[in-house]
Amino acid sequence: MDVTIKELEDYLYDHYKDGGVDESLFMKLVEEIGELAEVLNKRSGRKKADDRDFKRQLGEELTDVIHYTLAIAALNNLDMNYMILEKDKTASIKYNHKINLEKFVINSRNKTTD
Ligand SMILES: [Mg+2]
Repeated sequence: MDVTIKELEDYLYDHYKDGGVDESLFMKLVEEIGELAEVLNKRSGRKKADDRDFKRQLGEELTDVIHYTLAIAALNNLDMNYMILEKDKTASIKYNHKINLEKFVINSRNKTTD
């Protein structure tokens, strides 16, 4: 099953709307970024590792980062699908990318329907 950014934002809004506070969610986000850094440090050998399933750990910590990032976005009524497309459009012009995300997705979807 795939989940869209909008569906995840709606779910997180529903979950946090009665008690979620930007500042506490931001502190959780920072904690999760620290856990992500720890996994990357273990994988590269800069820190001792007992469990070597780095791919699973990396996936879990990135998921936590996305969770709190989108929770903050949802509580601030930000449409992150739109924001991601618009930011990428701006970056693709600024950094002279050969294609932007929106065009990439359109091309990709047209290939699968051919
Ligand atoms: Mg975590």
